[in-house]
Amino acid sequence: MGIHKELFLEIESTCKTKVVQLVAVSKTKPVEDIMELYALGHRDFGENYVQELVDKQAQLPADIRWHFIGHLQSNKVKYIIPFVHLIHGVDSLSLLKEINKQASKHNRVVDCLLQLHIAQEETKFGLDKDELRDILDNGLVGLENIKICGLMGMATFTNDVAKVRAEYQFLRSLFLQYENRITKNCRLQILSMGMSADYKIAIEEGSNMVRVGSLIFGERDYPKK
Ligand SMILES: *Cc1c(COP(=O)(O)O)cnc(C)c1O
Repeated sequence: MGIHKELFLEIESTCKTKVVQLVAVSKTKPVEDIMELYALGHRDFGENYVQELVDKQAQLPADIRWHFIGHLQSNKVKYIIPFVHLIHGVDSLSLLKEINKQASKHNRVVDCLLQLHIAQEETKFGLDKDELRDILDNGLVGLENIKICGLMGMATFTNDVAKVRAEYQFLRSLFLQYENRITKNCRLQILSMGMSADYKIAIEEGSNMVRVGSLIFGERDYPKK
């Protein structure tokens, strides 16, 4: 328990200098730790699990901007729609349609990022470039309660810096390709890439939003299976 304050201040300062938005990833961490960061003025927090996010949101100040960064199942969208600030991991048109439907019930327009599969690992979710093109070309008409604000991706978990760099460069190239295509519900402005292990590389490769957890909050303890 307890945050790494010095490291947080250093990361925060790096992000400010580079005009990068810092999302503090608080998954598995207690509300006390979130409040420590809140007291330092931080407002953007990221969570991966719907139930955990809903529980924490209910206990914490209303001006926190909650980012959902995990893999979102369609049947759970409704629980986070009333308050979520940005959904990072949208990786199908059917999910987008469900977000739109639930958002319309709450008279909201919910900001979303499309997640691209850029890593080598099989396990990471996301669209490939053709699926991205399909959604942007044909999928968004009539979805008045969502806004596509950018792209998100996770690089391969590896010490191979060149590989990580290449994956982020690929994501940025897609971002640039569609950046000027502005419609009623689509305007790519956010490029969410970079975590504790690689946020500096990500920023060098053009990220303007990083999601940093363990450097700020310490390593996560998952319950043993
Ligand atoms: C957990 C998680 C992070 C933060 O990971 P750290 O390595 O602890 O910084 C960032 N993005 C996503 C999508 C995550 O699931």
